[in-house]
Amino acid sequence: MLSYRHGFHAGNHADVLKHLTELALIDYLSLKGKPFWYIDTHAGAGVYALTEGFAAKNAEYAGGIARLWDETDAPEAVTRYVELVRRLNTDGVLRHYPGSPWVAAEAMAGTDKLRLFELHPSDAPLLAGNFDEQKRRVQVQQADGFEAIKSLLPPPPRRALTLIDPPYEDKRDYQRVVTALKDALRRFATGVYAVWYPCLARREVGDMVDALKKLPAKNWLNVRLDVATPAADGFGMYGSGMFILNAPWTLPATMREVLPYLAERLALDKGARYVIEQGGDL
Ligand code: SAM
Repeated sequence: MLSYRHGFHAGNHADVLKHLTELALIDYLSLKGKPFWYIDTHAGAGVYALTEGFAAKNAEYAGGIARLWDETDAPEAVTRYVELVRRLNTDGVLRHYPGSPWVAAEAMAGTDKLRLFELHPSDAPLLAGNFDEQKRRVQVQQADGFEAIKSLLPPPPRRALTLIDPPYEDKRDYQRVVTALKDALRRFATGVYAVWYPCLARREVGDMVDALKKLPAKNWLNVRLDVATPAADGFGMYGSGMFILNAPWTLPATMREVLPYLAERLALDKGARYVIEQGGDL
């Protein structure tokens, strides 16, 4: 079942939370000056046009990146993220939005490596095309990311960030995330793992988050940004979250600065709110 196309949602509130967190993680890993890998199990197309095609249809970015585009009073991590998106839009007009692989490639050093997996037969070639000139550091494979990471862990430099960002259209994805992470921690206990998830009126979401908290990692951080009140009929996504295993010690403080700001700027109604929870040695 591969009907999901990320282009429809590019740059929305969920992408803002996801990519800002991803960038903060990459910046932290880069501090040591030692090489690391970025592994993206569900990479998408890599870069999206906002003013044409899928993204223009719903213009979800209008409630996401567009609301931050001209802000001058943002916390440092938000400014850093918007500046990175600006590098794709050098004339200052918001026309393109980076997917998670582009965010990583742009922020990482030339010596760091990226391993990207995308299963969709249309998005996988687009993704490969977007990194055609960086073949030495970026490898793209059309494969099931949940299975494919097994062969990569532990990665040679023994330092890595793995992003797991499935569509969750198939509700088995919730359990697949937990199973994949259990296995990943067994193979590579010290890796940093980040999972994106939607906030929906679905039992599977809470069950997955509860299961992630019990995994044998050094610590965990769960951040959630709701932009709206959940609909009375129970339909629709009203926010999203990022769950990080083996999070850097600096991340909770960054999130405590960023989330109140995002909850205010990206609010669709008075139900906008944020949650920060942490466990283990954080
Ligand atoms: N991570 C991307 C970003 O932030 O720019 C967005 C990814 S999107 C939420 C999920 C992607 O996973 C879709 O492009 C979909 O085609 C792909 N996909 C679905 N099932 C997959 C699987 N088992 N393995 C790899 N990719 C898959």
